[in-house]
Amino acid sequence: MTTGNGAGVTVAGAGALGLCIALQLARAGRRVTVCDPAPVGDNASGVAAGMLAPVFETLLDPQGDDELTFLRMARDLWPAFAATPIDRFGAVYRGERADAVRAQLDALGVDWRDTADGPLTPEDWRLDAGATMTRLYVLNEQAGVRFETRAATGDDAGLTVLATGAGGAGLAPELACLTPIKGHILRLAGGPSEGPVLRGDGVYLCPDPAGALLGATMETGVDDRRVDPGQVDGLRARGERLYPGLGALRARADVGVRAGTPDGLPMVGWSARPGTLLAVGARRNGWLLAPLVARTIAAYVAGDDPGPYAARLDPRRFDNESETP
Ligand SMILES: Cc1cc2nc3c(=O)[nH]c(=O)nc-3n(C[C@H](O)[C@H](O)[C@H](O)COP(=O)(O)OP(=O)(O)OC[C@H]3O[C@@H](n4cnc5c(N)ncnc54)[C@H](O)[C@@H]3O)c2cc1C
Repeated sequence: MTTGNGAGVTVAGAGALGLCIALQLARAGRRVTVCDPAPVGDNASGVAAGMLAPVFETLLDPQGDDELTFLRMARDLWPAFAATPIDRFGAVYRGERADAVRAQLDALGVDWRDTADGPLTPEDWRLDAGATMTRLYVLNEQAGVRFETRAATGDDAGLTVLATGAGGAGLAPELACLTPIKGHILRLAGGPSEGPVLRGDGVYLCPDPAGALLGATMETGVDDRRVDPGQVDGLRARGERLYPGLGALRARADVGVRAGTPDGLPMVGWSARPGTLLAVGARRNGWLLAPLVARTIAAYVAGDDPGPYAARLDPRRFDNESETP
């Protein structure tokens, strides 16, 4: 299904995916409305660390063949997409497995070098998630996108894109195969303000002038946004091992809920529900993937070739898992 040029599209969800999709569609000349009941940035996208990290995500959280090429392709779309500032200090591994990580970096064939901290790759970048949300809002408004503070109920006329993160239950059958993954992240009052992201096992530290970010927990199957002191203590302890002295700093804990699919890749493409496209399940890499997802959705809307990864992201790959009894 495609729509004629100028036909209206409703994007449900104003996270990283929804905002990038809306912008891409508006730039292609579509009339776009974004609806979301939540305040700006009150979602997983708003609390995220903003790492655009094809190398360390492939290395520390592998999700299948050819992942590095796919994630690199997504990262490379960012500079031209929203002109948001991007840190390119790279990322360095600090931990007990440094020799194994060096061997993995060699096997992946990525650019890396040794430093006093451990192996560093300049290939992983980072953006400021909060500032980029604001930037995307402004760009959308300039492109003529309308914003409505309401939940999508499935009654909107025309085409709807569901970019509802871990929400949206009942709006399409495929959403039933998403798993929520709660994540805590700490905004420290201090810590390093600039430099490469430090990656450890089960922990990372992003230097930031507004206070370094220490992330993040992965609590699979948990779908609430309450701060859990036990998870915060565990994260602090891992942070202290990664960067001694952090444990003593004051910190604000934020919580977001990611959405994951059974194979760790997002669902991007047509739903079984007529007139509905899906852009959900970006798990740990929603910021990294957002422009690529936006481009893929815009191609579907226009009836163009959705690109080399469309089949791997097609929601129909889970048809048996999303069938309702
Ligand atoms: C602690 C933490 C750290 C992270 N760090 C990184 C990182 O460094 N790099 C990276 O790439 N990714 C990171 N992620 C993952 C990333 O944040 C997510 O993959 C991404 O935010 C998903 O974006 P989204 O737009 O799909 O969902 P969300 O940001 O969750 O947005 C979904 C929106 O849909 C709205 N919604 C729900 N139901 C409806 C409805 N019925 N109608 C309308 N709107 C609805 C919600 O209110 C919400 O605003 C992190 C996540 C967490 C939790």
